[in-house]
Amino acid sequence: MTDHLRNPSQGTVVLDPSKCRGHGICSLASRGLIGLDEWGFAELNRLPVEGRSMRLARAAVLACPAKALALELLPEPLLIPGAQPEPPLF
Ligand code: SF4
Repeated sequence: MTDHLRNPSQGTVVLDPSKCRGHGICSLASRGLIGLDEWGFAELNRLPVEGRSMRLARAAVLACPAKALALELLPEPLLIPGAQPEPPLF
């Protein structure tokens, strides 16, 4: 497996609100990356993360005792030597 697939640098934190129990540990583990509402429940829908935020997002997902958070990983696009990048659509 290539390195970009093993260690992607971009992803999205996704919350399953039906599982969230309002522990607030995710916010502590992510140093505030995951925000909480006034009752201590995680306050996000889909949160894109990259770079340093990936480490904090992983920490939040691992720390959640209710398994309410998931990190969807986005592998970086393959760079093929000599290939031209596609122009933007707009
Ligand atoms: S740690 Fe998990 S259960 Fe607790 S607030 Fe965060 S997402 Fe919700």
